[in-house]
Amino acid sequence: MSLTPEQTAEKNARHTTRMARKKAIIDAAIASATDERGLLIVITGNGKGKSTSAFGTMGRALGYGMKIGVCQFIKSRTDTGEEAFFGAQPNVEWHVLGDGFTWDTQNREQDIATAERGWAVATRMLNDPSFDLLVFDELTYLLSYGYLDNDLVLDAIASRPAMQHVIVTGRGAMDALIELADTVSIIADEKHAYRAGVKAQRGIDL
Ligand code: ATP
Ligand code: MG
Repeated sequence: MSLTPEQTAEKNARHTTRMARKKAIIDAAIASATDERGLLIVITGNGKGKSTSAFGTMGRALGYGMKIGVCQFIKSRTDTGEEAFFGAQPNVEWHVLGDGFTWDTQNREQDIATAERGWAVATRMLNDPSFDLLVFDELTYLLSYGYLDNDLVLDAIASRPAMQHVIVTGRGAMDALIELADTVSIIADEKHAYRAGVKAQRGIDL
């Protein structure tokens, strides 16, 4: 059913009024958000997209010439696309600090020693205000398995330089970390190609 010219004009006018109202609300919200500080962002949940979200933010930050530190706490492989690309950027310091998943190493003492070595690198970066953004990939597992003193880790993150941003990724983010965070996204696992028998694809999964 087509509208008469009068009906179309009325519809357009209603749209304009609605958008003007919406713009006023959005402008007011923007005006009231005046804080500027380093954010703690947690990307958790069982779906795909946690680490790649952090890498996407890195691309954004690098566009402004920001300095970035990356700690990969579980992964031991250094042949990923992300490391090949971001690790070659002069403003990125990239550390692969893991030695595989706990079901691969099967050695709790070794996992704890590895976690502590990795956390020492992270602590150095948290104490260095020249880093604008830190990515702690898969830190959540070190906390949930109790490989690191959770209070010490949270205190170190909380007392970092005021303008330093930190992104933590990994499944099962603990409540205390979520509480401390400014922004938390939980990625849901609706579907994953892996369950249809597709192996990890270069450029997409690694
Ligand atoms: P990505 O790095 O792709 O953003 P992620 O960080 O969200 O993934 P991880 O738990 O770190 O997820 O897993 C990394 C690898 O496992 C990637 O190859 C990813 O595609 C795959 N993966 C992530 N989520 C799932 C899932 N729900 N089922 C199967 N494989 C998954
Ligand atoms: Mg990941």
